[in-house]
Amino acid sequence: MPQVPMMRTELSPELAELRGPIRRFVTDQLEPLAARIDAEGEIPDAAWDLMRGQGWLGMLLAEADGGGGADLPTYCLVMEEVARSHRCFTLLLDATSGLTPIAIARHGTAAQKDRWLKGLATGRLRAAFGLTEPGAGSDAAAITTRATKVEGGWKIEGRKQWISGGHAADVVMVMAVTDPAQRARGGIGAFLVPRGTPGFDVTRIDTTIGSEAIKLGELTFTDCVVPDEALLGDPGQGFAIAMGSLSNGRLGVSAACIGAADRLLEMSIEHAKQRSTFGQRLADRQAIQWMLADSHAEIEVSRAFLYETLRKAAAGEDLGNFAAICKLACSEMVGRVADRAVQIHGGAGLMRGVPVERFYRDVRHYRVGEGASEVLRMVIARELVK
Ligand SMILES: Cc1cc2nc3c(=O)[nH]c(=O)nc-3n(C[C@H](O)[C@H](O)[C@H](O)COP(=O)(O)OP(=O)(O)OC[C@H]3O[C@@H](n4cnc5c(N)ncnc54)[C@H](O)[C@@H]3O)c2cc1C
Repeated sequence: MPQVPMMRTELSPELAELRGPIRRFVTDQLEPLAARIDAEGEIPDAAWDLMRGQGWLGMLLAEADGGGGADLPTYCLVMEEVARSHRCFTLLLDATSGLTPIAIARHGTAAQKDRWLKGLATGRLRAAFGLTEPGAGSDAAAITTRATKVEGGWKIEGRKQWISGGHAADVVMVMAVTDPAQRARGGIGAFLVPRGTPGFDVTRIDTTIGSEAIKLGELTFTDCVVPDEALLGDPGQGFAIAMGSLSNGRLGVSAACIGAADRLLEMSIEHAKQRSTFGQRLADRQAIQWMLADSHAEIEVSRAFLYETLRKAAAGEDLGNFAAICKLACSEMVGRVADRAVQIHGGAGLMRGVPVERFYRDVRHYRVGEGASEVLRMVIARELVK
């Protein structure tokens, strides 16, 4: 595989040193599992074991909580590198350091952390994040799942859909309305609902345009009573907790977009050098060169912007809308890079089972999940014109 001449924008000299060993591990150890994931439609235990062995599961959680105590730049470097192989590997990072684990780490009581975080950090337990409903996606404040106070706990009623890994999760963080008069202004709670709780059922499993191994659960709650200890934070804090987790996740998603785009460009260069038409290599045609150049330029600019945002985050600076800008720019960028990659490959980029085709489908998720592009634009523009 040709090494794209990166400008070598790096987060720090220390992280620059880490990139080579991480890439070698991903290429030698994880990449052989990529084809298996596609063939079996499941993420094999071997992937969890290998990533656990590297200390990548739960790496963002504090060591006291059983995590790796890594910082966000290191997490994003690993995210970028595993995304060069298969989107499913990014999901393992997300499941163990992402939306729900981070929410528990930030807002959980000592008992909640003790019960969930050590297991989540090692991948022994699986968590899911339950916000979206049939009637509420981008407009998350419109959720109707209801949590009503009962003696000693809360009764949850409602339905969540498209919850990543929700079908197999040991615990789901369920956002539910606790005060209909307040809703997003302090009337939504976040509840940690364990699998097996009476009244909590997985009623459907959806797959998407992306890898078959990516499964989304429909979760139905009927007279589902959880104890007071299941409530994360205050009864009105759930919306803020959920939005805080989503905002945190945007830089990780951006890193995954850059890693996938990098690999797509490498595959495009390799194909363009090998394939000849009308007696000349595709790589020597200006039409193809311009596509390669545009992809390279966009990847480098995106990476530089992500790293600058990560530096600000590491320095404790207020990011404002930079995480949203980053996610918008990187997810749109990888869509364009994937489209060019398929075009450069011609029919060979459309055949089931070739990596380009799989990347093209998988990266389509990024412009919808964790803040669709239009909603991010709305958030960014609102700030500009206020
Ligand atoms: C692979 C995948 C994994 C997911 N995992 C989870 C998960 O783990 N947990 C979870 O809770 N949810 C999850 N979701 C759901 C995801 O968060 C929602 O799909 C997303 O928030 C968008 O909501 P929606 O699909 O209902 O689209 P809608 O909100 O119906 O929006 C449809 C389209 O309209 C646009 N739009 C919406 N409002 C506006 C506006 N005001 N102006 C202009 N355009 C607008 C949107 O950008 C989008 O393009 C997942 C989705 C996918 C695809």
